[in-house]
Amino acid sequence: MQILADYHTHTIYSHGKGTIEDNVKVAISKGIKTIGISDHGYKHMAYGVKIKDIAKMREEIDKLNEKYKEINILLGMECNILDEKGNIDLNDKFSSYLDYIMAGYHFGSTPRSIRSLINHCDNYIAKSERAKEHNTNAIINAMKNNDIFIITHPGDKGDVYIEDIAKVAKNTDTRLEINSSHGFLNVKQIKEIKHIGNKFIIGSDAHIPQNVGNFKLAMNIINESKIDVTLIENIIL
Ligand SMILES: [Zn+2]
Ligand SMILES: [Zn+2]
Repeated sequence: MQILADYHTHTIYSHGKGTIEDNVKVAISKGIKTIGISDHGYKHMAYGVKIKDIAKMREEIDKLNEKYKEINILLGMECNILDEKGNIDLNDKFSSYLDYIMAGYHFGSTPRSIRSLINHCDNYIAKSERAKEHNTNAIINAMKNNDIFIITHPGDKGDVYIEDIAKVAKNTDTRLEINSSHGFLNVKQIKEIKHIGNKFIIGSDAHIPQNVGNFKLAMNIINESKIDVTLIENIIL
């Protein structure tokens, strides 16, 4: 398998263990053509990237692109989907530094309202129907209102109506991730949306450099769900 890109990797700028260069070196050693650095959006209470670091990250990546001609290094961000309206933690102060945006739901994101605080609790404890609807609307509205390249680990930490999400992803040209750390999309979800013809991306979600390009779990999911692998944009089998 040839890995064309791994867009989902974390560094010490959020809660990864390695530097940007550490991730780049592993990507090169695995023959990966494009690596994305995608630390957590700043409205994550524990791991959010610091706004003041983003310009520095851009500068570091521009220099590394000069140094390592054999790979394309991109600066992205894994933004937090903050509420049912689909607000994400992206703003004009730094959006121009970024090459692409991913977005996903995380427990640790700063609640934007009482409603979104209650929803964290619902997802954590009750796992209710109300939470499933909230999570689904949040992702759908995030895709409609923002230019999101990839929705990360859909359904992880908060259940969703995946078919509704997949239809909007198709219409908004948003890719759905098969996350190789969390196992979402999972086999059941993929089987449910197979007929829609979405574009998929595998993400390692590496938090240590050695896991950059580790697509093992995602490949198991793909093999079991028997999807058309040509729909997965970042690998060639
Ligand atoms: Zn995530
Ligand atoms: Zn991540």
